Amino acid sequence: MFKSTQRQLTVLNSMVFLFVFVVFNAIIYGYLSLKIFDWVDADMLAQAEAFRVKNRHSVVANPPPPYDPRIFILLRSTDGRIINPVPFRKVDSGNIPALAVAMDSEQFKTETYQGHVYRVISIPYTHTETIFEDEPDFFVERVIAVSIVDSEVKLLDNFFWITVAGGLAGVIGICLAGYFLAKRAMVPIQAAWSRQQQFVSDASHELRSPITGIYSNAELMLRHPTHTIAQESQRLEVIMTESRRMTKLIASLLTLARADAKKAELQLERVDISEVIEVAIERFQAVTELSHIKLISHIQPKVEMVADRDRMHQLIVILMDNAFKYTLPGGIVRIDCYQTEQQIVLQVQDTGTGIAAEHVPYIFDRFFRADKARSRESGGTGLGLSIGKWIVEKHKGKIEVQSEYGQGSQFTVFFPADKK
Ligand code: ADP
Repeated sequence: MFKSTQRQLTVLNSMVFLFVFVVFNAIIYGYLSLKIFDWVDADMLAQAEAFRVKNRHSVVANPPPPYDPRIFILLRSTDGRIINPVPFRKVDSGNIPALAVAMDSEQFKTETYQGHVYRVISIPYTHTETIFEDEPDFFVERVIAVSIVDSEVKLLDNFFWITVAGGLAGVIGICLAGYFLAKRAMVPIQAAWSRQQQFVSDASHELRSPITGIYSNAELMLRHPTHTIAQESQRLEVIMTESRRMTKLIASLLTLARADAKKAELQLERVDISEVIEVAIERFQAVTELSHIKLISHIQPKVEMVADRDRMHQLIVILMDNAFKYTLPGGIVRIDCYQTEQQIVLQVQDTGTGIAAEHVPYIFDRFFRADKARSRESGGTGLGLSIGKWIVEKHKGKIEVQSEYGQGSQFTVFFPADKK
């Protein structure tokens, strides 16, 4: 599946590159071919228009230099004769007059003549008097400017072929670049895909054990239809525990799925975090007594921030639940909350089992459990901390952990304090 997507992406990337390359070069070529004659055209026009009659003598009142020396001015008489007025009137100027005879356009034209390319323009000459004393019957009808433009045309040609050759050579580079980019683009897609695969397979695996527990216990109960509820209470208790675990697991999976789909929106309001913690602590009072774990709390009153109250409660419960789960009787769980100028700090510490250094980097991963049996026994799903981390990040905070195996753990959450 990935191979064909990568192939498609490579083709698409290469096509886009090629398209950009072709369009870019076509624009440059088009612009160049439109503008390349502009300079010479302007000079030709200036010279043609500068032709004047002064004291009945022909002159070319040269506009300020430098003039393009490739430009010839020719005059055509009413009877079709062509002469070259300057510098040597009537001196044969090669094939130029022959070319000019054919030209009668007031628009610039490009003509190929005897292997050379010329720009030609012919403008009407409006004075009717004789302008050459020795040529009394030479009445100028048109002034023609001619310029050889071989170099411009050669430049344009060279540019065209260089572009074509560059394009052909570039196709290989373009395909390689397209392939490289497609490969890079596939990396996060592949990673997300395999994460998703892993998630689905872990979730199915996790769901299977409570279902098996419920099914087998129900089946066993069915074998003794005459038994009373009291006689089957142990099995019923297992069914209830497994159902509870399943409900919790499904709720966690739903939360994460909605978080992944960016559908889990926060219900933001001004929340008294201190109060939320006190409520959670209340809930854990019974656990403290049953588990013989001491709970110490230092909660600064009225620590407020804009947050989702339920999510905050969920986060605190996740952290406290873990602290109690992984602390042996006689241990201590401590919860602190205070506000500094910049941030709100929430800390849950315990004197429990701690986390081995090699496991610390993974504890926020979905379904990661350092001790699977212990976690499962205490109702853990391996999803608590990943949900906790998501809640913290959704509130623009960060969560850190410090732990020493056999000594205990400390989870610290930092939220940015609201600007007063
Ligand atoms: P679980 O439901 O298994 O507790 P969590 O995502 O909450 O899942 O935690 C992931 C793992 O991190 C736990 O299985 C446990 O190994 C470790 N862990 C989390 N909190 C603590 C803690 N306070 N003390 C020791 N280990 C912890």
